[in-house]
Amino acid sequence: AKVAGGRCIRFFNEQMQEEFNHRQVLLDALKSAISMNQLSLAYQPQFCTDATSETKRIGFEALLRWVDEEKGYISPGDFIPLAESNGLMPKLNRFVMEQVMNDIDALSECFSDDNWVVAINVSASQIKADDFLRDLKQRVEAEPRLAQHLELEITESVLIDDIDAVAKLMREVSSMGIQFALDDFGTGYSSLIYLKLLPFRRLKIDQGFVRDLLNDRSDEAIVKTVIALANGLGLETIAEGVETEEQQHRLVKLGCYQLQGFYLGRPEPLAHWQKH
Ligand code: C2E
Ligand code: MG
Ligand code: MG
Ligand code: MG
Repeated sequence: AKVAGGRCIRFFNEQMQEEFNHRQVLLDALKSAISMNQLSLAYQPQFCTDATSETKRIGFEALLRWVDEEKGYISPGDFIPLAESNGLMPKLNRFVMEQVMNDIDALSECFSDDNWVVAINVSASQIKADDFLRDLKQRVEAEPRLAQHLELEITESVLIDDIDAVAKLMREVSSMGIQFALDDFGTGYSSLIYLKLLPFRRLKIDQGFVRDLLNDRSDEAIVKTVIALANGLGLETIAEGVETEEQQHRLVKLGCYQLQGFYLGRPEPLAHWQKH
């Protein structure tokens, strides 16, 4: 039994060792990508539509992109958690903010009027960092247009603890003019009371509910309920992951007029949107 146990443990350890090595290699590659400026932003357009008028571009979501020379495209779904658990998020966040500030002239030229937003994703650790507010204030001083155009996307994971501290922080940020969106809404564990207490401008209906909207009656019921809830609370809704015309039509019919997804536009470098 001892022998078998030993083998079993060794096998398990080898797998763990491999996994660990893989993460270590990826982490080293990420560190050097950061220091060698190999990260970039893609901007995915957001649209507003209704039954009568045509679709209008109203914003962009900024999404981090990393293309490694050897490994190729690496999804933020893979490297953001790695950055989170290795203390690299401040660097990534700084990069995103600085890039958006650099891009703000070009961004504003992508819109027909002044009512547009550029949304960035802010992780729980970032928003809870001591210098978050001070840093944001400094950036708004340096680039006052951020106050009008920046939106911070946070997920429900931010709201799990420290709700009073988060509420205070969000109110201060809101008073600067910067808005909040609740990302991936419906996938977390937050209580509905947060929607009442916290200054969100809009809810992002998670793409998981949009995917089978046409075929799954529970998903349709959830989307309907989220829209009704948002309307009742005076919040806007935007649907993520709209991949087909049929999904767009259904969402508009249900009363969700803001849309983001591959059907309307993929995340692309800013240069692409300057031409389209
Ligand atoms: P998210 O904030 O919910 O971003 C939406 C994700 O859905 C993006 O994936 C986007 O490319 C993808 N998407 C958009 N439209 C469609 C569609 O029609 N169909 C499908 N299947 N997918 C669509 P991406 O770029 O891989 O990012 C994944 C996640 O990584 C983001 O989810 C966000 O949580 C995180 N992330 C990305 N950039 C940043 C960043 O700068 N900072 C932080 N903290 N997180 C980031
Ligand atoms: Mg997002
Ligand atoms: Mg999302
Ligand atoms: Mg997500």
